[in-house]
Amino acid sequence: MPATTLKQAQTDSVKRRGNAAKNWLPEKISPLSANARVAIIGAGISGATVAAELASAGMLVTLFEAMPEPAMMASGNLAGSCLPVVDRGNAPYNQWYWQSWRLACQWWERQEDRQSLGDLSGAFKWSRNASKQSTWHQWIEELNQPALVQWQAPLYNAPDIYGVHFKQGGYFVPKQVVNRLLTHPRIQLRTQCLVHAIQQEGHAWCLVFDQGLTETFDAVVLAAGASAADLLPEWKDYLQLNKGQVSHVLSRDWLSPPKMVLSYGGYATPAADDVICVGATFEGNVPLGLTQAGQAHNLSLLRQVLPQALKPEAQPVGGHSAYRVMTSDHLPLVGQALSVPDYQERIGACVLHPDTCPDATAALKSNLWFSLGQGSRGLTSSFLSAALLRAQMTGQALPVSDKLKQAVHPARIIFRQMVQKALK
Ligand SMILES: Cc1cc2nc3c(=O)[nH]c(=O)nc-3n(C[C@H](O)[C@H](O)[C@H](O)COP(=O)(O)OP(=O)(O)OC[C@H]3O[C@@H](n4cnc5c(N)ncnc54)[C@H](O)[C@@H]3O)c2cc1C
Repeated sequence: MPATTLKQAQTDSVKRRGNAAKNWLPEKISPLSANARVAIIGAGISGATVAAELASAGMLVTLFEAMPEPAMMASGNLAGSCLPVVDRGNAPYNQWYWQSWRLACQWWERQEDRQSLGDLSGAFKWSRNASKQSTWHQWIEELNQPALVQWQAPLYNAPDIYGVHFKQGGYFVPKQVVNRLLTHPRIQLRTQCLVHAIQQEGHAWCLVFDQGLTETFDAVVLAAGASAADLLPEWKDYLQLNKGQVSHVLSRDWLSPPKMVLSYGGYATPAADDVICVGATFEGNVPLGLTQAGQAHNLSLLRQVLPQALKPEAQPVGGHSAYRVMTSDHLPLVGQALSVPDYQERIGACVLHPDTCPDATAALKSNLWFSLGQGSRGLTSSFLSAALLRAQMTGQALPVSDKLKQAVHPARIIFRQMVQKALK
């Protein structure tokens, strides 16, 4: 075969394989018009970041929130850390959170009066675990960005505690951040407005409220955190709830109050009004509410790494509990929604041979989008999620590589679960 024909044949084959591989991560995007009317369900950090992005793109955004104010559920902590993840080498997981963190920092730097939104001027992350230390160390060496992240050893005069100094790590005050994001004039916020159901009407979506009232939008973004599966029960299996509790400790109860975020398995974040947040428990799908056991856990985790930080008699004066929404791979679900049963039916026979999967685009739900499953990193990860959604919904260039887009594609976790079942 002549060289050019051979090359063409190889290219065609790669293209075919590429297209076939995409069949199990279906995509069929018809960009919305610049002034489309979009409803976002949920005014936490996910909904607010998407609202700001879409409003900046010219869309008319209505944000529906069941609670009396934005940011009262998972995004309702007094303060939360904003840091990348360093645990998994160069995997998409690390890359996603690194890029998200950079975007969050850039957003913060653009804000006027930014100290009221938090402080991204330094955070320490450390561990006594030798294997963790070695993974982090290797990652920092490879990354080689000393202006952003540096290896720090030893910390706090403890010879076995090593860690990482993120020069632009820090904390956000989520409520303030959410309120700032919602100031765009093309965003309308409707609080105490529970969406009972969403119904597809051709390419549009109808939202159903109390007393059967309805309103129709060109597109809907579901950013409803722990309640998302109430609106789409078929997604319940893929959105695991994990209760978390943070404890509030007054600064006067510290011998040395943290001046920046300390992350050590738990975390301590300096916050406004002389209250320091110490977090956080991971308790699974148990009822919400502050418990003494949760408070004791948070303080004991802190005392293990920093025995001299708190006064011996220090006690929490309050706290906050909410559900994190976790996915099986700890990455969020960002992108176009799809019907789980339709998808399973189309892909079922070929999960062990992905190259042979038929086109599954018919399982996609036109003009319904997700920013869900932000887990324990939503204050970092929502910013990139929103930028990716904006690009997908408007047909603009993506802010991430194809690999990262696929790493957060909502279909991937259905697909993986099907593979695991097929292998059993
Ligand atoms: C204890 C704890 C500590 C944490 N610490 C950190 C941290 O330090 N750093 C970090 O990055 N992340 C942290 N997280 C995770 C982070 O808080 C979440 O990832 C993030 O807040 C999720 O935001 P969200 O907008 O997706 O969900 P939420 O903030 O829960 O927002 C969802 C909103 O949707 C509304 N809603 C739901 N259903 C409907 C409906 N049908 N109609 C109308 N409105 C509806 C809800 O009322 C809610 O306001 C922590 C979480 C917890 C619980």
